[in-house]
Amino acid sequence: MSSIHLQELTWAEVEAYLQQDDRCLIPVGSTEQHGRFAPLGTDSYLAQALAEEGGRKSGVLVTPPVWFGWSPHHLVCPGTISIRAEILIEMLFDVFKSLSAHGFKKFVVINGHRIVNIPWMQIACQRAQEELQIRTLLFDPAYMSKEIGTQLGFGEIGHAEEIEISQMLHCFPDLVDLSLAKDHPHSGQGHYHIDPRNPRDTLCYVPSTLAAQQEILQKTGDTVGGNPEQASAAKGKTYHEHLIRRLLEVLDVLQ
Ligand SMILES: [Zn+2]
Repeated sequence: MSSIHLQELTWAEVEAYLQQDDRCLIPVGSTEQHGRFAPLGTDSYLAQALAEEGGRKSGVLVTPPVWFGWSPHHLVCPGTISIRAEILIEMLFDVFKSLSAHGFKKFVVINGHRIVNIPWMQIACQRAQEELQIRTLLFDPAYMSKEIGTQLGFGEIGHAEEIEISQMLHCFPDLVDLSLAKDHPHSGQGHYHIDPRNPRDTLCYVPSTLAAQQEILQKTGDTVGGNPEQASAAKGKTYHEHLIRRLLEVLDVLQ
């Protein structure tokens, strides 16, 4: 195979791949603000980086990334693009439908956009399994990194915090300007609802309102949740390599 990227192959090469394998990786991210120091494409770049390296190490084909997510709460900052969840469900279902008709039967969807992406991806995956007789798995970095996140001293998941920014510093150092980052620590009080490794993760997640985000932006000058100043490429490397190992395990399960 000349490439693991579906878009770089000819249809004849895909036909040859399907003689030996029926697995496929689909990276799904977002185009949304990630503070004044990291790019709008952060979630998509990271999903793509995991898919690309996982694909190279396993030989499994990777589809073009889904660059858009459901990001209504981030529209407060320019450049953010939010697609309605129902449209995303239909789009992912159509990707499954197209590829399954050609013989792909096992899919790993890699989530770069955290908990916000999960509900609609679950609905698309369930429907595809029922109607197309395929197998789908959702690979979410937060669920796959519970121990390593604590070992690395990462705080709670927030937004543009030390977890994703460390991974960006490892994978795409030229796209981050850490000198512009400012910590906005979580309050540490009350209920919390984003991070599966935190015991205070109690109430189920609902994206913030635009008004609430506007207030944060006015108060702090940015819309960051967490401590990006604590990010480092070294932590990002350990974290990223852990996720790649977990992704290869998941691909093995599908063999
Ligand atoms: Zn992000």
